Amino acid sequence: MYYQMLNQHLNNQRVDASLRLATLRARLEKEITANLLLVQGMANFISVTPGLTPQIFTQYARETLQDSPVIRNLGAAPDYVMRYVYPLEGNEAVLGVSYRDLPEQWETASRTERTGELIVDGPLQLVQGGTGIIGRAPVFVYQKGQRHFWGVVSSVIDADRLYDMAGMRDTTLKLALRAVDEYGQEGPVFWGQQDLFDPKMNAVRMPVTFPSGNWVLAGTPEHGWSHTPPLAFMIHGLVLLLFLVSGFAAYRAARRNHLIEQTRESLNHAQALSHLGSWDADMRTGDLWWSDETFRIFGTDREEHTPSLRGFLGMVHPDDRELVENQFAESLRSCGSYSVDHRIILADGTVRHVQERGITECDATGTPIRSTGTIQDITDRKLIEDALKANEAQMRAMAEASHDALIMIDSDDHIMFWSPAAERMFGWTRKEALGRSLHLLVTQESDREKAWKGLKHFAATGQGPVVGSVMEFMAVKKDGELFPVERSVAAFRLGNSYYAVGSLRDITQRKKAEQELHAFSDRLELASRAGGIGVWEWNLKDDSLIWDEQMLAIYKIRGGEFSGLYEAWKGRVHPADITAAHNAIQEAGRSASPWEWEFRIIWPDGSVRHVRAAALTRRDAQGQPEHMIGVNWDVTESRMLQEQLHNLATTDALTGLANRRWFMEQTERELERCSRYDSPFSLIMFDADKFKSVNDTYGHDAGDIVLKAIAEAARSVLREVDILGRLGGEEFAVGLPETDIEGGRLVAERIRLAMQDSGVELEDGTTVRFTVSLGVAEYSEACSSLETLLKQSDMALYRAKQNGRNRVECSLVPPVQ
Ligand code: GH3
Ligand code: MG
Ligand code: MG
Repeated sequence: MYYQMLNQHLNNQRVDASLRLATLRARLEKEITANLLLVQGMANFISVTPGLTPQIFTQYARETLQDSPVIRNLGAAPDYVMRYVYPLEGNEAVLGVSYRDLPEQWETASRTERTGELIVDGPLQLVQGGTGIIGRAPVFVYQKGQRHFWGVVSSVIDADRLYDMAGMRDTTLKLALRAVDEYGQEGPVFWGQQDLFDPKMNAVRMPVTFPSGNWVLAGTPEHGWSHTPPLAFMIHGLVLLLFLVSGFAAYRAARRNHLIEQTRESLNHAQALSHLGSWDADMRTGDLWWSDETFRIFGTDREEHTPSLRGFLGMVHPDDRELVENQFAESLRSCGSYSVDHRIILADGTVRHVQERGITECDATGTPIRSTGTIQDITDRKLIEDALKANEAQMRAMAEASHDALIMIDSDDHIMFWSPAAERMFGWTRKEALGRSLHLLVTQESDREKAWKGLKHFAATGQGPVVGSVMEFMAVKKDGELFPVERSVAAFRLGNSYYAVGSLRDITQRKKAEQELHAFSDRLELASRAGGIGVWEWNLKDDSLIWDEQMLAIYKIRGGEFSGLYEAWKGRVHPADITAAHNAIQEAGRSASPWEWEFRIIWPDGSVRHVRAAALTRRDAQGQPEHMIGVNWDVTESRMLQEQLHNLATTDALTGLANRRWFMEQTERELERCSRYDSPFSLIMFDADKFKSVNDTYGHDAGDIVLKAIAEAARSVLREVDILGRLGGEEFAVGLPETDIEGGRLVAERIRLAMQDSGVELEDGTTVRFTVSLGVAEYSEACSSLETLLKQSDMALYRAKQNGRNRVECSLVPPVQ
């Protein structure tokens, strides 16, 4: 927008200068022509005045000079010899001088005779001083219908006065004049600012045409071209801009942000566009003016190339010429604007792509006066676009497959590629995104200035803080939602421009997981401090293991006591639990979820502690275990408490044997196992004989002691795997795995003998003797439950009582073979 304003401002200045220059040109032409006509008139007078005398000449010349204040003198030279001069005063020296003796003047003087036309010479330094323009005209006389050359008349026009008359000194323009000869060759600057014809001055030039002569008048504003639009102009533009913006805002509130963005965008656009050329064509003269950048785009300069509309069309690529001509013609016809992308061919054969925008101004009758416009080299962008188009399918397939958004921008921040993932991620469709400023689209306002600064640097160097690195930033979706994005950017160069391709990944989930992990470790730290939980971390890649203070405390390891923590740990683990603990760690490494297990350790003082552990494995992108984090806590106290509870629930307080429930549970389990493996299982039930009398004779306490002794005696003759329990009162049972009825009888017999041989010595020294009666039964398919087995052995026990006590009876129900 600013650029357009500035361009408009420059154009306005040129138009202004051109108008004033044209006025000067017209006055100059009028003065010169008028005075030269006087010479021509004198030539005509002489040709019809055969008897010319000095008096007649003087009278004629006097009258003529009264009409023209710029003519310094008039002269007449019959046969090239100066015979008449007016005023004589100060010009005496020229009388009698022959043109044939003046080599510099002979050429033009003699040419008048050859061409029969008036010829202008000068401006010259006059012999009399000052600068003069000399007009010379031939005089022909007619005698008897024959034309004879009489001589030459001349008029010296005071150039300085002529310029004054034309108003050349009353202008604020800087001016210069140079002559152009009949071959179009420009001569030296003969008046005004010497450097004004320097291409750098960008002067407006105008031909000054008069009979048989051409000059070029050049002009610029007094202080050169202003590149700062006058404040009023700026304000005018800004007000207009604001009016537009606010007008639209009121008119369509919903589109406001978009419009402001667009306005900003075009501002940036203009600033970034240093490679925008402009041109200005005068449609009446066909003159074409190019800005420096336009020359640069065409690969030429002011010195070697004079732009013209025809010349321009000659540089347009033949295939595009018709299009350009049509567009331009249409603009002239409609007095409107046009925009066309086409190719041009430079002198060296290079093909460049340009974008032209132009507008034609017409007068009241609709006749085009001038056409102005801009030209921009878009070759690089075009090449990229073509390359993109050519590889579109491939790129799209690649982009399609990528979960990450792929975006390409030029160094002006324009989006050139927008992948389907980008559409999904940001909510802008490809159509909406292409050509727009990436940072306006996806970044927060606070991030934009910095990004654009970076891009400016990138445009010049192809380098930037973003290029080649992976960074995170908060991106904005179309609906305004913010989300974290990880971005990696690569840059490449094409032609003279740099482009950047970014891969953007939505890391919302990862961020959340990271936050959770942080929160988790915070919680863990709190918990570990409060709850005596030790934390360890095992880096599986480099096999390093870290323990916190609490871990060392749990294992009673002093910091630095052992070289390797893993060895230290292994050294503390209960030998019976090492394999299981090691396997558990392996399991935790394989598992996707936290893994928990328990093992015992032995402290240096020999006490056994119970430790509970949990571990979690973190994996890398390939799913390989990378990191294991675990916790340990001492559960010895609760283990003991648990054991106590268990014991209370399962053992008989008096004898320490399994109580009925626990006996039944264990036996049931063992029965199942035996039936599964088809191995035999026998059960013995035994009962103290005549126990009532023990109580009666020695007291209840003595009875209790006897019961304990019975339990002890039975235990002493049984195997580790046998299950011994007190079913109630003075009644006991034994489960015998892997034992048939015969084996059962032997065991029962052993128990009977053990009882018979034991005795309990009371405090008063008396010895209480006791016996038991036993019944044995074997488990079989026929007796399919523990209940039945108990009943059978109970029946056998009953028979043992019947048959005299202190004896063994076997169940009469034989096991099925
Ligand atoms: P039998 O040979 O027929 O079994 O005669 P018995 O006296 O043992 O007969 P019975 O089963 O009728 O009596 C059992 C007695 O055992 C009754 C009860 O007082 C006593 N007894 C049961 N439990 C306990 C105990 O925990 N402590 C003591 N001291 N005596 C108990
Ligand atoms: Mg009894
Ligand atoms: Mg009993």
